[in-house]
Amino acid sequence: MIKMPSCHCGRSFGDPSALQQHQRSKFHCYCRECDRFFVHPNALEQHRSALHNCYSREAYAKKGWGSRNNFQLSYGFKPGNSEDWEEGNRILDAMIEADMENQRERPA
Ligand SMILES: [Zn+2]
Ligand SMILES: [Zn+2]
Repeated sequence: MIKMPSCHCGRSFGDPSALQQHQRSKFHCYCRECDRFFVHPNALEQHRSALHNCYSREAYAKKGWGSRNNFQLSYGFKPGNSEDWEEGNRILDAMIEADMENQRERPA
């Protein structure tokens, strides 16, 4: 049986280009700055920490909220809840991507 290309979020696609289109539009395991795809969200996070230090989730949360835990609390998430942590990851990813987009449109 041929395995359909699928995203870490659980969606499957008919062909690899459809998957990449999805990753691009949802920023799932996708770095817009480098136009690179990753197999797992952790790989993307590692890439960001290494290459785009200010855009790692932890650094971003620290900058805006003092710490990642404060960020989680500000959204009413329970500390130590892994589902809430994942949701926090998604929120941070969206904010980081929006930030990248703004910087790209209006270079300093
Ligand atoms: Zn996805
Ligand atoms: Zn990158």
